[in-house]
Amino acid sequence: MVKILRSAAFAWRELPVLPSRLRVRALKCRDMSSHLFSEGPSIKTTTVGSYSQIDWLYALPSEQTVQDAMRVVIGLQRDAGIDLPTDGELYRYDISHPDTNGMIEYFISRIGGINTKIGISDAKAFSQKNEMSFRRKPAGVVTEALSEGSLDLFESCTRSSQVAGGPMKFTLTSPYMLARTLLDNHYGNLEALTLAIADVMAEQVSELPCTCVQIDEANVPGSPENAPLAAEAINRILDKVKVEKAVHFCFGNYGGQTIQSGKWKPLLDFLNSLHADHLVMEFAHRPDGDLDVLKEIDTKIKLGIGVVDIKVNHIESPEEIARRIEKADSKAGPDRVGWVHPDCGFWMLKRSIAERKIESLVKGRDLFLGIR
Ligand SMILES: [Zn+2]
Repeated sequence: MVKILRSAAFAWRELPVLPSRLRVRALKCRDMSSHLFSEGPSIKTTTVGSYSQIDWLYALPSEQTVQDAMRVVIGLQRDAGIDLPTDGELYRYDISHPDTNGMIEYFISRIGGINTKIGISDAKAFSQKNEMSFRRKPAGVVTEALSEGSLDLFESCTRSSQVAGGPMKFTLTSPYMLARTLLDNHYGNLEALTLAIADVMAEQVSELPCTCVQIDEANVPGSPENAPLAAEAINRILDKVKVEKAVHFCFGNYGGQTIQSGKWKPLLDFLNSLHADHLVMEFAHRPDGDLDVLKEIDTKIKLGIGVVDIKVNHIESPEEIARRIEKADSKAGPDRVGWVHPDCGFWMLKRSIAERKIESLVKGRDLFLGIR
């Protein structure tokens, strides 16, 4: 069974080049959605990235079903009133590597210069580095200078944008987080490796046909000593992005467990050094004291507040959501909160839970703003 799914996952990667009229349509989506930032509610709703597993997609995986599933996921968000939906990252999900939901392997398996056939000695060398305690094996072994390989972010983004037909956010995993999953036999230091990954990704982001590009980092909150490096790598990519720029931070999520210890406060310099238009931060599953950091974040960066807890099945009422927004708003100061969203992606929650949480998110935002 796994073999069949593996080959199906491979088939998704072999996407046909989209006809030029579809590329044009996707490019138009970016223009069409520019009103998103100038009109509508003063606080926008968005999701973070991954969506719950779609059972029928994994039972019958194909290029057609992945596009069908994407339509369902984007449509559900839009029907609920989400201002800036994500594609659910469904095409990145590899059933063989469910732990990181394609957040890692999707990129690592494509970037050139990385061997993803992991031998026993590679696994041993990686475990001695103790880079990532929850990974037994590296995601890949760096054997030569990195290159674009088969990574084609434009093609992936174009497909999602074509399905969305309107505002859409496209997500990328932070180079620092990717670097931490690798066994490096070429660069010899984490800094050179991280920046090499950043350069490969930065080459591909300037023309992405979407409304917003978001970079996801779930590792540095637990290793703030590496924050300057993570920031430099993220900024190299953001500096090439021409649409809204977002950075998502969380403390990791594995079935309700927090992976990284740490607090927001030590990350303040890091947050303020980012060339982002807005941040997308985990707060619902955090102690209230974490909100104190908000007033110290540079006012040029809009704040995105996690008000939906994705580590629990409890479905927040609109009143609970509104109270969480109110708490963050009072700590941050007027006009600082620009976005509300779940703490992280939904991939570990059942669809029925995720869908109701999304509905509550929009209703809670509306309640806070006194609209509808
Ligand atoms: Zn996250």
